[in-house]
Amino acid sequence: MIRYHAAWIVPIEGEPIRDGWVTVDRGRIVALGRRAANDATRGVELGDVAVMPGLVNAHTHLELSYLRDQIAPSSSFTAWARQIIDERRTRMQQSQRDPAVAAAIDTGIDECLRCGTAVIGDIGNTHAAFRKIAASPLAGVFFWELIGFNLDADERGFDAIVAHAIDDLKKLPAADRLRASLAAHAPYSVAPLFFRAIKKAVSRMPFVPCSVHLAENVEEVELLKTGGGPWKTLMKDIGSWNPGWTAPGVSPVQYLDDMGFLDSRLLAVHGVQMSAGDLETLRKRGVTLVTCPRSNGHTGAGVPPIVDFYESGVRVAIGTDSLASSPDLNVFAEVATLHALAPSVSPAALLESATIQGARALGLDADYGTIEPGKLSRLLAVDVPPGTGDVEEYLVSGIYPGQIRWLEAGSAGKAG
Ligand SMILES: [Zn+2]
Repeated sequence: MIRYHAAWIVPIEGEPIRDGWVTVDRGRIVALGRRAANDATRGVELGDVAVMPGLVNAHTHLELSYLRDQIAPSSSFTAWARQIIDERRTRMQQSQRDPAVAAAIDTGIDECLRCGTAVIGDIGNTHAAFRKIAASPLAGVFFWELIGFNLDADERGFDAIVAHAIDDLKKLPAADRLRASLAAHAPYSVAPLFFRAIKKAVSRMPFVPCSVHLAENVEEVELLKTGGGPWKTLMKDIGSWNPGWTAPGVSPVQYLDDMGFLDSRLLAVHGVQMSAGDLETLRKRGVTLVTCPRSNGHTGAGVPPIVDFYESGVRVAIGTDSLASSPDLNVFAEVATLHALAPSVSPAALLESATIQGARALGLDADYGTIEPGKLSRLLAVDVPPGTGDVEEYLVSGIYPGQIRWLEAGSAGKAG
């Protein structure tokens, strides 16, 4: 049993505790509270730190870490996407073997840990990152992302493609803290019958979440509304256009809702182009919206309507997205961007998004996301200036890796 004393305990579940303590034993949290003036119980004095749960990066693509600083910022999403597609067509085919791709995944994992991330939702188009994440202290969900807009298949054909993908996931080695699931890439890159097949298959799996990039850019909205625009041109250029596809004439959210794709297992990533009505639909379906504002700025998708997200009552989690569109994998930096873009959103709500909301969306909230008795003690000690009064405000204003260390848990602990 270890008892820690700290200037602040930030449990997320409940108000921050000034002059707090938390005890951990064999990797689990036992109890926490505030030190009374006459409390002489001995403990490890951490000093001017805020103890808080490890963060959740609910959307990243570690497989793309080799693209750090390689893809120029863009003012149009489809122009940005062209750069990525070109790059991936030359490199990703060999990613399982390319040592630079593999080494960048290792570096990305190290960076996540140094930035205080305990849990990730990682998207892969190969299985290259799975084993590396499984061998690291990170917990989370690995989503194998399916793409296909013009595949020549009927309903049974798509069911077979998805069944094959699930069989492949079952061949991955068992991992204590990492589960595998499927993701659909986006409305403009996944055929309607493919969406339905993915939904059907994931619903039959024991609880695992699913993920999709949704309402990220104006070109996507235009394609679904009119059947034309830059996405159609791009898809034709790369030989992925499906001439048999008809535009539904509705928003991306409505399109997936009409297919029955939206439910409480889904992480809908980005939402830059969502209306109030779209957000209400997500809220009703229990979908978690994952916001990645720094990536949106880099790709030309624009500024997400962050205040609308929080006012709508939808669950909001946070992702850095990949190093192809984000300068780093620091969730604290993503939070600071959210805070700067939407200062009216409470720091407490942002901290929830960076912890428990992501943990819940990924199905890992029994072990992660808050400091509560029984949960894993994957806890951070973040340096704060002496005399910090509003610790939540401080934590959402930009924390750097040098301020962060992991607390000893007694042992590493295992996800139950
Ligand atoms: Zn993404």
